[in-house]
Amino acid sequence: MLWGVARSILRHSLPWPASRAFVHSSGRTLRKGLLKYVDLAEERDGYVGGGFLTGLVRKANDSREVRELLNEGARRFNNTVPWQFLAAAAQVSAGPSVNDPQLAGTLLARIPPENIPHVHEGVFRAVLGNASKHKNSLVAIKAFRLLVARGLPLIPTDYARVIHSGIDSLDEETRLMNQLFEQPCPHDLDPRVIGVLLKRCNARHEFDLARKVWQWAAPRCHAKADDHELRFVTAQYLLLCGRTGNMAVARQVWEDAKNAGIAHLPIITGSMLSILAAHGADDEVLRLIKNIPPSSFNSHMLTAALTACSHSGNVDAARALMDQIETDNRQPPVADIRSYTALVDAFARRGDFTSALAIIERAKSQSHIGEDDVMWITVLGPCRHFKNLPVAQMAFDAVKRLGSPEQLASAYVLMSDVHKACGDLSAASRMQQERLEKGLAKERGTVTLSMGNGKTHVFHVREIPPELSHASSAIHRKLKEWSLWLAACGVSDESIQCQHSEKLALAYAITQGMSHVVLRKNLRICEACHEASKQITVLESISIHHWDRSRVHIMQDGKCSCNDRY
Ligand SMILES: [Zn+2]
Ligand SMILES: [Zn+2]
Repeated sequence: MLWGVARSILRHSLPWPASRAFVHSSGRTLRKGLLKYVDLAEERDGYVGGGFLTGLVRKANDSREVRELLNEGARRFNNTVPWQFLAAAAQVSAGPSVNDPQLAGTLLARIPPENIPHVHEGVFRAVLGNASKHKNSLVAIKAFRLLVARGLPLIPTDYARVIHSGIDSLDEETRLMNQLFEQPCPHDLDPRVIGVLLKRCNARHEFDLARKVWQWAAPRCHAKADDHELRFVTAQYLLLCGRTGNMAVARQVWEDAKNAGIAHLPIITGSMLSILAAHGADDEVLRLIKNIPPSSFNSHMLTAALTACSHSGNVDAARALMDQIETDNRQPPVADIRSYTALVDAFARRGDFTSALAIIERAKSQSHIGEDDVMWITVLGPCRHFKNLPVAQMAFDAVKRLGSPEQLASAYVLMSDVHKACGDLSAASRMQQERLEKGLAKERGTVTLSMGNGKTHVFHVREIPPELSHASSAIHRKLKEWSLWLAACGVSDESIQCQHSEKLALAYAITQGMSHVVLRKNLRICEACHEASKQITVLESISIHHWDRSRVHIMQDGKCSCNDRY
C-alpha cells in the first residue's frame, strides 16, 4: 500500500526535512525538503499516488513546503489534484506548524463542490479557527459557508469564530447572531463565545443586542461559578450595562452574580464599583464596600469608591474612607496615587482647594505615593469654574515640572480657560500662543454617534463626517434653531457657535428622527455643551446618553443624571 510506503519512508528518514540536496546511494541527486521523499518513494515504487502526497503534506512545516507539494501534485495529476490532498493541505496550513490562513482558504476553495460533503468537518473548523484568530474574515466566511454546505449542525463556537474574524457587513453579523440565538444555549457553552459577542455589541454600541446575548447565554451563566472565563464575561457585561446607563439591568446582573457565588471576586466587585462610580451612586458604593473582606479590597476598588463620592459631591464620605484605610495601615498599602487623585478631585470639584492641596501634601509625604501631573490637572480643571487664578498658577507650574507633553498641552488649554474665566483675554490667548510655539498638540475631541442599527458616525469640532455631507445643510439649520432657543432660555450657545463635535452629532441625530441619542466622547464634556444639551432635551423631547472619559451623563427633561457635577 502506498500509505504504508509513505509511513515507512517517513519513519526511517529522520531527521528531516533536509535543507540541502540529498545524494542517494544510487548516485541520483534528490530534491530538497519534503520533495526528497517523493523522489525516494518514486525510486522505490516507480509511482507516487495521491495518498502518498496527502500523507506527506501533513508533515509540512511552512507554507513553502505546502506549495511545493501542491505544485508537485498538480504536475502529477494534470492539475486535478485529489480533494483529499487539498483538504489535508488546507488543514495543515491552518494548523500551528504552517499557520497560514490565506493559503488554507485558497486550498479549500479549490475543492470541487461535489466533494465538499466528503470532507471531514474538522478541516473546515481548523480553517475557520485559524482565520478567526488572524482576523481574516474572507477566509473565515468561506470556511463557515462550507461548513454549512457540509450539512452538519453548527455549534456556537462556529458562530463566535466567524463573528470574531471581523466580517465587515453589520447586517450579516446581526443575522448570524440572531441565527445563533434560535439554538438553545448549551450548558457547557464556552464562555469565550459570550465574550466575543459582547465585545462586538460594545464596539457597535448595540446594547439591546447585548441584552439578547446575555439572555440567550443565561443557562450557561448559572451553570458553573468557578469558571475563570465566566467571571470575565460577567464583568464585561456589567461594564456594558454601566455604559448603557441601564442600572436596573446592571443591578440584576450583580444579583445573579451574587447568587452564582462570584460577586465577591475582585474582577466582579471592581466592575460593579466602577459603574456605580460612573453614575455617582455613592450610597450603593459605600454599602457595597462594607461587605468586601479586607483581604480582597484593592486600590482599584478604593479609587472607584472615592470617585463615586467625588461625582456625587459626598466629600465627607470620601475623606472618612481614606482616613479609615490609612488607619488600617494594611501591608501592602491599599491606597495608591490614583486613589489620592480621586480624593483630590472630590475636594477640587467642590472648590475646596485648601483641602485638595492638603491631600496632595499628604500624598507627597508618603514615599510610595508622591505627586504626578494627573493629580495637578485635577486641581487645575475646576479653577476655571471657581475663577481661582493663584491655585491655577500653582497647578500649572506643577504640570510643567512633572507633565508629559499630552498633559502639558491640556494644562495650557485649561490655564487659558482660567484666564478667560477671570476676564483676562490677552493672557488667555498668550497661553494658546505659547502652547503652539512649543508644538504641544491637544488631543482632538471625537464624538461617536450610534445610529442604533450598529452603524456609527464620528464627528470632530467643525467637521461633519464625509459620508454625511449630504446632511450638512439640515444640520446647520438645526444648529441655528437651537441657538435662538438657547438665547431665549438664557443659556450660552457657545458650544453651537464653536460647532463642538457633540452638537454636530446631536443635530444630525435629531434630523434623523432619533429620540434616544447615544454619544460617546473621548474627552470630558465641556460646561457649555453640558448646559446646552440639557436644554435641548426639553425642546426636542429627547433623552441623551452621553458617555465621556470620566462618566456617564443621562440627560432628559432639562436635567442630567450627574446633577451637574462633572
Ligand atoms: Zn463642548
Ligand atoms: Zn451631566
